[in-house]
Amino acid sequence: MENYLCLDIPGFHVSYKRWKKYGYIKAEEKENLKEALSLASGGFCMYCYSRVEVDRKQHGQLEHAIEKNNSDKLVECIPNIGLACSDCNSRFKRIGERKRKIAAGALSQFEEKSRCEVKQRKQCTVACRALRELQAAYHKMPGAEIILQPMGATGRCSEEPLALQYNVLKMEFQPNTNQYTYSEEEFSFIQQHILRFHLNDPRYRTKQLADFVKIVIDSGGNCPQYDYNNLIVKLFADKIREKTAEERVAICSRIYSAIFLKI
Ligand SMILES: [Zn+2]
Ligand SMILES: [Zn+2]
Repeated sequence: MENYLCLDIPGFHVSYKRWKKYGYIKAEEKENLKEALSLASGGFCMYCYSRVEVDRKQHGQLEHAIEKNNSDKLVECIPNIGLACSDCNSRFKRIGERKRKIAAGALSQFEEKSRCEVKQRKQCTVACRALRELQAAYHKMPGAEIILQPMGATGRCSEEPLALQYNVLKMEFQPNTNQYTYSEEEFSFIQQHILRFHLNDPRYRTKQLADFVKIVIDSGGNCPQYDYNNLIVKLFADKIREKTAEERVAICSRIYSAIFLKI
């Protein structure tokens, strides 16, 4: 399939600065953290890819990947904190939260090994071993099929990153089998993640790409640059930018006729 019809959703790599303080509780540290995360995601929610940074205002919320009520040591654990829209943070990610109970043994191991104290903080910006082990325990729980951000998740069997792709003609997020080979269990883990965040749900799924291809067609093949409202549009625009205007119209017409009944 042409590379603009199947878009690989990238992992988010946050670059934390040594000279900056990041945190969850203090206002200034919180702003610094939001800024670093937003830079990494391009201003998009790390779970549903909708724009959260709008006109220089940050609407994204700091989101504890492994919920902070599990341990005080998670509250200020920087690599465990991602950026999410309010729907993903306070609704979709929460579903089943009370039933997700990390095994007591794994939790006490974490508490013992983690050097992240709430008061005397060792500012760690790379996931420490204690955190990675806790994440592994987290992912073993039923109902915890969540690709935690910004750390991401790795398949237990294939050891490949669990990632998504976007099928443009189907308007559908899928496990990224374009780049990786997953076991059946990993494939279904990713599908559970997609379901949880309603990525393909007709009520919530993004329509931004449909609007964008329409603009390209109507403008005779322009590839307009603006703050796209969804990461998908950015990924797609990056792919067709190198084409000629004529090619862009042809590509976008083909896509539009395939999807216009779905929008
Ligand atoms: Zn979201
Ligand atoms: Zn830590």
